[in-house]
Amino acid sequence: MSSGGCLFCELVRTGSHIRRADGFVAFEDINPKAETHVLIVPERHIDTFRQIGEFPAEEVRRMLEFIVETARALGLEDYRVLCTVGPSAGQTVFHLHWHLLGGRDLGGHLPALALAEVEGEA
Ligand code: AMP
Ligand code: ZN
Repeated sequence: MSSGGCLFCELVRTGSHIRRADGFVAFEDINPKAETHVLIVPERHIDTFRQIGEFPAEEVRRMLEFIVETARALGLEDYRVLCTVGPSAGQTVFHLHWHLLGGRDLGGHLPALALAEVEGEA
């Protein structure tokens, strides 16, 4: 998908942001999966992480630093940063974004659901 009609391009322009700097925005996920669930979105549209090579290296570095700074600004010491890549990995919005999850103990490690389902089929 191109940037035309893209929900996150629209939210970058008109949404309510927690932080904005340097070509990146952070806003609350509409359907939070943790006490704190923020999305970090670059203004520049690419569909997924797969196209990260289209970003200049220094922009990638600034994007990662923006995530760190957002976590710090939200008072998060420990947190999870997650990027879904493609529909079967859970991606539903095709504009690169990072989930920043924190707050109360997130528990365990990574979601075990997919693995459990595979094992159940064996
Ligand atoms: P993903 O499923 O990894 O593509 O993540 C997309 C995320 O965008 C989901 O966690 C949704 O809850 C979130 N989302 C969808 N629409 C909106 C919206 N209008 N404002 C904020 N977050 C949204
Ligand atoms: Zn977009």
